[in-house]
Amino acid sequence: MQQELITDIDILEQPNQHTHNRQPTGEIRRTQENAIAGQRKLYIESYGCQMNFSDSEIVVSIMQQHGFGTTSQAEEADLVLLNTCAIREKAEQTIRHRLEELNSLKKRKPALTIGILGCMAERLKAQLLEEEKMVDLVVGPDAYRDLPRLVSQVEDGVRAVNVLLSREETYADITPVRLDSNGVTAFISIMRGCDNMCSFCVVPFTRGRERSRDPQSILAEARQLFEQGYREVTLLGQNVDSYKWAGRANRKETERAQAEGAPVIDFADLLEMVAQIHPDLRVRFSTSHPKDMTDKVLYTMAKYDNICKYIHLPVQSGNDRILALMNRTYTRQWYLERIAAIRRILGEDCGISSDMIAGFCTETEEEHRDTLSLMQLVEYDFSYMFYYSERPGTLAARKYKDDVPIEVKKRRLNEIIALQRELSLKRNQRDIGKIHRVLIEGESKRSKEFLQGRNSANKVVVFPRKHYQKGQYVNVLVHAATAATLLGEVVE
Ligand code: SF4
Repeated sequence: MQQELITDIDILEQPNQHTHNRQPTGEIRRTQENAIAGQRKLYIESYGCQMNFSDSEIVVSIMQQHGFGTTSQAEEADLVLLNTCAIREKAEQTIRHRLEELNSLKKRKPALTIGILGCMAERLKAQLLEEEKMVDLVVGPDAYRDLPRLVSQVEDGVRAVNVLLSREETYADITPVRLDSNGVTAFISIMRGCDNMCSFCVVPFTRGRERSRDPQSILAEARQLFEQGYREVTLLGQNVDSYKWAGRANRKETERAQAEGAPVIDFADLLEMVAQIHPDLRVRFSTSHPKDMTDKVLYTMAKYDNICKYIHLPVQSGNDRILALMNRTYTRQWYLERIAAIRRILGEDCGISSDMIAGFCTETEEEHRDTLSLMQLVEYDFSYMFYYSERPGTLAARKYKDDVPIEVKKRRLNEIIALQRELSLKRNQRDIGKIHRVLIEGESKRSKEFLQGRNSANKVVVFPRKHYQKGQYVNVLVHAATAATLLGEVVE
């Protein structure tokens, strides 16, 4: 799972399908108004991937327990928190600029507390306090329970840092406060951290070791969402296929328990348990890893109509030498066999998306063409596409020279994007004349006369509003398609 904005060039506008749980380019989520008179006010801005947005919902829940309401205006707040992303230099620059803007607010409101959360906080730690004088608080992704204590420490005049990573923490007992929700779809974090050490990625350093959340707490959250009217949940993890529960979150202890014969709940089991909650509760998940995705998961998806037929399976490159340098731990052939298994078990209509990195260290033209040829073989429905951005502290930064010139990176990225646009259009045109079951998520971005939702393959479907409502399932006959959207009419 590599977490980043869709593409540097921002071509295909896909609704927030975050692979790696991402948001459409540059999307920032902010808190809504729900503070009562006299209550201290929290304003939180979330950047990057869905894991971060879900964490912000946990943070608001913790701070509400300690007397904070939320506001949608930083100017109204007593506490401003930026939940940050560190996946690319650009993501961190965005935060630096935002802090400059907040600095003038701080000058007007000296009592205002400004805090940095998330992956940039974990990557830079106390160094951020030295570099950014207006920042009072630096808190890593595993230390949010400590926020209330740290905030009062700042209110006593002492700047605060807690960036301890945990092998246990999953916030399983904290009910997220849904922020900026459409009331129909929600994300449930099922695990934290990542044990894969892809050489280009900072996530293992900023989110720590893998740990899985107690399945009973995941089921309770999904049931509660269904009772509240939500009709779709997306199970979130850096690598959901390595979800494993044998009584403890800690991965090492889980493996020990497994070795001693303890029953283990793996991802396919969890998927089935959530799907059995109710046939009208759709289930999605993100993100899968090619080396761990099992046929058991695919057969479980085939068994339940309410498990959506869509898989985000990042490949990153189509060339074996580059995959080895990236430490992705699979080959082109292995990946294509996983794709063949998806097609065999779930059929041609199953939606597949991916992540691509253009211009990784020492990548040749021929190796770049291997990525293009793999895309043509798979025919992805859509992808998240980037050029390589060296991240300090990663294996690649330490061992490999970032030697592909930026103009070459951008040209290769443009070729990948242009090909993806063709493939997306071709895949969407296959849907013309077919009827799709669509969960209505709300009004179309373009017109109030139209509603939009997604089909099982995670494609956006737009159709005339008539008397239909958000949260309803409708059958839509598709009569036209673009690279990003299917257009149709509801058929009763
Ligand atoms: S290390 Fe690899 S699998 Fe883990 S989050 Fe990063 S890109 Fe994804």
